[in-house]
Amino acid sequence: MEDQQHRTDALVIGSGYAGAIAASRLAAAGVRTVVLERGRRWTVTPRGDTFATQRDLDGRAAWLSERSPLTDRTLDVYTGVLESLDGEGLTMIAAAGVGGASLLSNATMVEPSPELFRQAFGDALDQTEMTTRWYPEARELIGCSPVPDDIWASEFYRSSRSFAGQLDRAGIPYRRVDLAVDWDVVREEMAGRRVAAEVAGLNLFGVNSGAQRSVDRTLLAGAEATGRVEVRPLTVVTAIRPDGTGGYAAACERIDERGTVLERYEVLTRTLVLAAGTLGTTRLLMRARAAGALPALPDALGTKVGNSEVITARTGMPENNPTQGGPSAILVQDWWDNPHAPVSLLNFPWVDAPAGEGWITTIGACPSPAVGTFRFDAARDDVVLGWPVDDPRVTVMAKAVQDTLDRLDAANPGSSTAFARVGTTGGNVVGGVPLGLVTGEDGGVHGCPGLYVVDSSLLHGSSGGVPPALTVAAVAARTVAAMVPRIAAVSVR
Ligand SMILES: Cc1cc2nc3c(=O)[nH]c(=O)nc-3n(C[C@H](O)[C@H](O)[C@H](O)COP(=O)(O)OP(=O)(O)OC[C@H]3O[C@@H](n4cnc5c(N)ncnc54)[C@H](O)[C@@H]3O)c2cc1C
Repeated sequence: MEDQQHRTDALVIGSGYAGAIAASRLAAAGVRTVVLERGRRWTVTPRGDTFATQRDLDGRAAWLSERSPLTDRTLDVYTGVLESLDGEGLTMIAAAGVGGASLLSNATMVEPSPELFRQAFGDALDQTEMTTRWYPEARELIGCSPVPDDIWASEFYRSSRSFAGQLDRAGIPYRRVDLAVDWDVVREEMAGRRVAAEVAGLNLFGVNSGAQRSVDRTLLAGAEATGRVEVRPLTVVTAIRPDGTGGYAAACERIDERGTVLERYEVLTRTLVLAAGTLGTTRLLMRARAAGALPALPDALGTKVGNSEVITARTGMPENNPTQGGPSAILVQDWWDNPHAPVSLLNFPWVDAPAGEGWITTIGACPSPAVGTFRFDAARDDVVLGWPVDDPRVTVMAKAVQDTLDRLDAANPGSSTAFARVGTTGGNVVGGVPLGLVTGEDGGVHGCPGLYVVDSSLLHGSSGGVPPALTVAAVAARTVAAMVPRIAAVSVR
């Protein structure tokens, strides 16, 4: 095993939505950039078996662990797509792989209402600027659109149409949601020319047909094609520190697909961009503070963490096929009439739904209170997420969602709610490095010139009562636009 040092102008840690936007903008500005990504590349092939599915479950579903909160099975230990970290009150799940959570998310891209945006960000970001400039840019960068009419009308989306009818009867507003999905590939799934993935509800651990517009195949591929960006998969950054000359050093482990360390080295850079997601970025910064490498990081580090997720299931809807038609189709916008809190609901297929009982499952989101915190546990050399499950500001989310479901049930005799609970396993957790408190407007970490954060950790615990990906991308686009000219000025020769 060699110990050596590599050098680059800009170093990006993490390759999800935020890291891909950073890499693509740095490449366009002519900055030589290395992207370090702990997970492997997941290349979709015509065989249609790249990712694990709910029907074909193995270590590809979990990051170096025999366990996953999404299955009871014991898995082989592999560099799979989802890390889970048990916290106090919440098990957090975080993506791993070139493309980050864009590989496996439900792909829903939702902008909050102006009012909910302002509640979520306060003075930290200007809502008008975000709505007119950065959300449109994020949509363009990701490429998203709602289910087209021909696919909506197909047999595969019968449960979505049934749900829409129920919402009409209850007078609850909804619309078809924007999704980062290539609908031509979905048509090929429907015609049997590609493996059935989205239409069969098999998207939890990645989409084997290639219908998902994940950033490894879009933004990152474009950045790599410039020749200025090098992505290094299976490379875990274990620590960051100032290098003593005004730049930074990232300690890395190159691993194989079973997690065995093959090589250790450091990358030296003038500019370090953290895009490792809520968990990954907060973890690296808190570890650096605990180790004394970055002792002056602001006290707000680790704060303003939120989990907006509420999971629901209803039953008793006739003429339904709840195992099919994904990844989602409908966004319920109960944002104005709910007496407890604004509620968003997104239906999604449930492959284990009992036949003939007319189930509909949804993932809901409310404006999350920013009451979660990360603390650093020196003994484990890791962060611990604390989430106060019994806090009334958290439990109100379940009450609000239950209220929406009660109105649906009342308007649709025969249907009933099986459960509505605040998620105890969270993929939509945001915050930890709040913008404006730990960083400046350009993501620059206070007191650490040349160190930037651009990812979901910048949010103030909430993305405005909707799932976070589009807001993460919009904030990243804005942050990166402010940061890149400064980086280019010191990097491009
Ligand atoms: C299963 C799941 C489903 C979701 N569905 C939706 C949805 O439908 N709609 C929506 O709006 N939001 C959804 N989300 C949330 C959304 O995807 C995230 O908020 C968003 O992807 C965050 O983007 P990011 O770039 O900040 O981080 P990520 O996409 O998480 O990317 C971070 C990357 O950094 C890498 N990394 C972390 N630590 C290190 C390290 N030490 N060294 C090297 N690399 C590292 C990770 O492997 C990962 O690839 C979902 C999340 C999950 C987990």
